Amino acid sequence: TSGAVVTADMVDDVARKHFPPCMRNLYERLKRDRHLKHFGRLQLGLFLKGIGLPLDEAIIFWRKMYGATMSDDKFNKEYKYNIRHSYGQEGKRANYPPKSCQQILTTNQPGTQDSHGCPFRHFSPENLQNFLISTYPQIDRSSPEMRDIMDSVKTAHYHVACTRVFEVTHGLKKGEGLSKDGESVVHPNKYADRSRELERE
Ligand code: SF4
Repeated sequence: TSGAVVTADMVDDVARKHFPPCMRNLYERLKRDRHLKHFGRLQLGLFLKGIGLPLDEAIIFWRKMYGATMSDDKFNKEYKYNIRHSYGQEGKRANYPPKSCQQILTTNQPGTQDSHGCPFRHFSPENLQNFLISTYPQIDRSSPEMRDIMDSVKTAHYHVACTRVFEVTHGLKKGEGLSKDGESVVHPNKYADRSRELERE
């Protein structure tokens, strides 16, 4: 892991540069709606813990994101506990790890109103293309990269599609993967950690 602490104020910048598509989608939805459903909060919250957002900063972050849509009273009573819980500070004090791609792909399948899950697996092809185009300036609708991504999705190689996005958005050649030896994405936090490492290299 990168080891560096991320503060609430840094999340927006880190999201734009380093979040994998699933987390970028959750973050943009949270910004737009000032709300995420339970599994979305869990998926994004544990990921943020994994990139180095400490508990006190997580509370600041979520309070800020909900904004005026939620009273302090409601936040303190209903949401703070869950954030502290996911950091192992309440209940049975388990230290919940961030979810892997495998877990995100196969458990708690999202319904139409949900924003958790993996865009490559859970978006319609049309929504996936629109999401990729609006999120990544490096990806055009009719580009060879888009074709690679959609081909991988069609054959259910979601991690290959995600790795292709990583390559395209980090100026890497096809097949280089996360680490130039073709390593593919198996965990959202590895995607983010590797992205932050590349920025420092
Ligand atoms: Fe997230 Fe993994 Fe899907 Fe990439 S392959 S978007 S990291 S769940």
